[in-house]
Amino acid sequence: MAKAELGAKRRCLTCGAPFYDLNRMPIVCPKCAAAFQVVEIVRSAPKRAPLSRAAYARPTPVAPAIVDADLLKEQAEDDEMEDGEAPAI
Ligand SMILES: [Zn+2]
Repeated sequence: MAKAELGAKRRCLTCGAPFYDLNRMPIVCPKCAAAFQVVEIVRSAPKRAPLSRAAYARPTPVAPAIVDADLLKEQAEDDEMEDGEAPAI
């Protein structure tokens, strides 16, 4: 019920970790600190979307978003510097 406060549920495009964005901008993955690019799903807009400057902007690390309960348990055990799930690329 309190999901409105948590913002939208996101899934990190880099490490795949699910988290809530807390309605913050920019959205930064709390697990790997990668910037989350919001992909707007526009089906009836054939015109090409210009790349926004935000796509290039380096987001400054802000307060971490809330991670899913499962991840919170994981992180509580091995902090956040463990990179066992780090992507190869
Ligand atoms: Zn991530």
